[in-house]
Amino acid sequence: MTGLKRYQMLIDGKWVDAQDGSTFESVNPATEQPWAEIPSATADDVDNAVRAAHRAFTEGPWSKTTASERGKYLRKLGDLLGEQSEHLGRTETIDTGKMFKETRWQAKYIADFFHYNAGLADKIHGDTFPIDKPDLCVFTNREPLGVVAAVVPWNSQLFLTAVKVGPALAAGNTVVLKASEHASAPMLEFGKLIAEAGIPDGVVNIVTGFGDPCGRILTSHPLVNRISFTGGPGTARNIMHNAAENFAEVSLELGGKSPVMVFEDADLESASNGVVAGIFGATGQSCVAGSRLYVQEKVADGFIDGLVEKASKIQIGDPLEEDTQMGPLATRAQLDHIETQVAKALDEGATLRHGGARPKEMNAGWYYQPTILDCPRQDLAIVDTELFGPVLSVQRFRDEDEVIKLANDTKYGLASGIFTRDIGRAMRVSKAVRAGIVWINTYRVVSPIAEFGGFGDSGTGRESGFQAIFDYTRPKTIWINTSAEPMGNPFVMR
Ligand code: NAD
Repeated sequence: MTGLKRYQMLIDGKWVDAQDGSTFESVNPATEQPWAEIPSATADDVDNAVRAAHRAFTEGPWSKTTASERGKYLRKLGDLLGEQSEHLGRTETIDTGKMFKETRWQAKYIADFFHYNAGLADKIHGDTFPIDKPDLCVFTNREPLGVVAAVVPWNSQLFLTAVKVGPALAAGNTVVLKASEHASAPMLEFGKLIAEAGIPDGVVNIVTGFGDPCGRILTSHPLVNRISFTGGPGTARNIMHNAAENFAEVSLELGGKSPVMVFEDADLESASNGVVAGIFGATGQSCVAGSRLYVQEKVADGFIDGLVEKASKIQIGDPLEEDTQMGPLATRAQLDHIETQVAKALDEGATLRHGGARPKEMNAGWYYQPTILDCPRQDLAIVDTELFGPVLSVQRFRDEDEVIKLANDTKYGLASGIFTRDIGRAMRVSKAVRAGIVWINTYRVVSPIAEFGGFGDSGTGRESGFQAIFDYTRPKTIWINTSAEPMGNPFVMR
């Protein structure tokens, strides 16, 4: 007996251990103590999961359900998620260190993602065409693709699961989910609701383990038709290679180094709250973190002083406590990466305005102070390196043209923020900025109804919104000869 909570994987409706019995430990980032034991899937386990999903797709029952029935299953799943939000949120907090306040709220909100896709299920339809030939009727049906491999990172495990599973199932696909090795428990707890929602065996399968072999084998599997990946750009490149072997379709939601631009005419108090939410919310471990701040020269000094004051008041502590405002980083490797990058930025000429160290008051846990670095130049490595932590680089700008150049000087293209009272300027800058998401006078808001995604090193494809569901389908074009006459001589062209 290890005293650890023991989890199993969900394959073909059954809860199973890895075939060779191997496991790994999941560590609570707030205590640095292992708390759960997770199966480390073998190649055979992954193969079994994909084959179960393939059977559920090809032989039924999922392929035999109507779209309206699938909608009902998803509605029920959303309801259960809402009811279980307290438990799911707590599990995610223990596994990732993300604040309970946020994980509980997020678990409740992701019910809406399932409800939204439940509503869409029976609204996916094809087209008819006024075809340019006589006696022919042509239309398309939108069909599901087959088995979807959904690979998820450790931050926002439940949320990222929902944005993939909702549209995939609504469109009629079956799914094999791969949890992150750093946070598998929330997805496995979610898996318990699948049977409760009445979703048939094999429609949703969950495998756990490391990128290699578990993720590699899953994304290389010849029976996988589509890969929906969220994670880092390096992993995404490997996945694209894997997908190329089988011509699987791929969507990628990757990292970011999102610019937030504060103009001198902005409501500076509101902008300051937006910047703090953008970089210190979720301890900066968010793909859309507003980690590059550009402030117009005239207001820069006062604005930065205000940010420093706000950062100094952030309550760091146990993420399960209601009054905590910033929890730990999720992994030891994250902490090391951030410490290395901050030291490098200081070497390269940045000035530390706040933080830059682990908080002395915390005896255990991978905590790091909210950190603000005044950066004299754009070419500091920190300005284009994703830290995935509570570290803000700050630069000053003269005018609109300059800030657009600085904002676009990045390999990423996920999110951006603009704070100004000038609507014309807001629209000009939003058009010029190279990012998939622009928040004007707000930051870090998402919805099941609005598309989400980036370009460049931030990925390809979109999640959420009406269009996303179409990426889980393909059109089939059907031609019908309506002529009363038999087909003519094929060698006579008309
Ligand atoms: P990661 O790329 O290391 O891992 C993500 C997942 O991929 C994990 O489940 C991992 O096991 C798996 N994996 C690793 N190697 C694999 C391989 N060869 N084949 C298949 N799967 C493999 O990312 P991470 O460190 O867990 O997460 C942080 C990254 O995710 C950051 O870059 C962050 O910006 C990004 N992210 C993006 C979004 C978004 O929506 N754009 C959201 C959250 C996180």
